[in-house]
Amino acid sequence: MKRFFLLIPFTAVAGTLLFLTACNTNQSGGKGQIWERELGAVANEPLNPADAQKELNLKVDLIPEGKYGRRIFREMTPQYITIHSTQNPTGDAYAHAKALNRGALRGGVCGYLCWHFTVQDNAVIQHIPTSERGEHADFDGPGNRYSIGIEMCEHQGNNQVVTMERTAKLAATLMYHHKIPIENVRAHYHWPREGYDPPNKDCPHFLLENGKPGDTWRWFVGRINMHHARLVRYDEALREQKIKEEEAKRRKQMVQRVWSIVSDWVGLS
Ligand SMILES: [Zn+2]
Repeated sequence: MKRFFLLIPFTAVAGTLLFLTACNTNQSGGKGQIWERELGAVANEPLNPADAQKELNLKVDLIPEGKYGRRIFREMTPQYITIHSTQNPTGDAYAHAKALNRGALRGGVCGYLCWHFTVQDNAVIQHIPTSERGEHADFDGPGNRYSIGIEMCEHQGNNQVVTMERTAKLAATLMYHHKIPIENVRAHYHWPREGYDPPNKDCPHFLLENGKPGDTWRWFVGRINMHHARLVRYDEALREQKIKEEEAKRRKQMVQRVWSIVSDWVGLS
């Protein structure tokens, strides 16, 4: 009995804590809460990965092979996706492609900066194949050696929220094609740069809180995860449909076999 009475206050406290946590979860999301209202919730319906690819409006404009950022061929099997923002108020995705293609951005280990994709509100431009390493995160660290680098544009007139959403869709598509788990989608912040103070860059700055990943970053990653789930659901639906079709086929064959045995037996054929 005593134990029962002890249990009541404990349950009440635990219940209140749970309620508060739930409220807190609803209120989290940082700036994402405002952006979510603008974008609307991610749809639940399965999405054909080929259609998702088309929605990106992807333009391939690769840095010439053997030049600038691709001066040295360095093969890569992507295991991570790194999200950046350009912090450039004047250059759109096309201007960045032009700069990369003529070796205008110096730095990194090979002498030239390069990354895989630049995203603006209405398009994505690819600069290097996802099977080659870039120079965008942490010199010779794992961010460069194993991750696909995506830059989000910040030029004037560009819709920042739509750019983030296009980036989320691109990241989801890349996760799907390269089998990259959601925990391996990283902000540039996550890759410390040796010799820098602070080593962790405030990038992509508008998705971080006080220079660090917080609620807004978690909201963004959640959005990528939901886009990715739609692609996975499409495959699952296809698999289920195939199983159903095979089952129907098997049943039809069985009926035909039984019918033929019965027909033989009663001398119908
Ligand atoms: Zn960055």
